[in-house]
Amino acid sequence: MGAAPIQNIGAYGVELRDVFERLEAIDLQTGATRSFSAEDCVFGYRDSIFKRALKGRYCISRVHLRLTKRAVVNTSYGAIREQLAAQQIMEPGIREVSEAVMAIRRAKLPDPADLGNAGSFFKNPELDPERFERLRDRCPEVPHYLLATGRVKVPAAWLIEQCGWKGKRFGQVGSHARQALVLVNYGGASGSDLYELSQSIAASVEARFGIALSAEVNLW
Ligand SMILES: Cc1cc2nc3c(=O)[nH]c(=O)nc-3n(C[C@H](O)[C@H](O)[C@H](O)COP(=O)(O)OP(=O)(O)OC[C@H]3O[C@@H](n4cnc5c(N)ncnc54)[C@H](O)[C@@H]3O)c2cc1C
Repeated sequence: MGAAPIQNIGAYGVELRDVFERLEAIDLQTGATRSFSAEDCVFGYRDSIFKRALKGRYCISRVHLRLTKRAVVNTSYGAIREQLAAQQIMEPGIREVSEAVMAIRRAKLPDPADLGNAGSFFKNPELDPERFERLRDRCPEVPHYLLATGRVKVPAAWLIEQCGWKGKRFGQVGSHARQALVLVNYGGASGSDLYELSQSIAASVEARFGIALSAEVNLW
């Protein structure tokens, strides 16, 4: 739970900040407890002040969420709509949406208990509308997700797949066969092995699409 606000965890069109009220954290330098509002946390896409100015400074000890008693179902994300349609669920409740999310993840993501992996290695790039239109002129089939800010999110996995990395294995590291964005360790690979693969992937995406991928994971 403490890690959830660190990168404002999110998936399928919902982020922690949508239900976040406040958190309490212990200052590791002074021992004092401080309360942070959502504004104080400076949440962004997979981002917060705890990944930036306050990195490593606080231990988050309590997180307060505000949930609603009336279910608000968010099925705006394509993968969820497709999953519910495949199950012929027309009016999903929160349990159906929850089960659809779990089914998608089981189908697409490796289980860390079976296959070591770094989750989604890169953030999905957010493009300004003009930049996105230039991309769509070249690749009309590009999947995308329109953000409230007017910017357009493009799946990093799609960009990586277009560059031919999906499912490719190099020694003990590789891009996962069912989700190109997930970099996996088949056993015995080092952090440098994974890092080098990530650099090669980012370089090829930049060369082909002119889009610089940035890492979602922490690099040590
Ligand atoms: C297969 C896979 C799929 C994933 N899918 C998603 C996804 O869809 N969306 C998404 O947002 N993320 C995703 N991730 C990333 C994952 O959600 C985050 O890394 C998660 O929040 C980590 O939780 P954890 O408890 O394992 O934290 P850890 O990995 O242990 O810690 C993450 C960071 O938070 C810090 N931290 C942990 N607890 C505290 C605390 N109490 N106070 C201060 N700092 C703390 C750690 O020092 C570290 O820097 C995925 C990861 C994997 C492996």
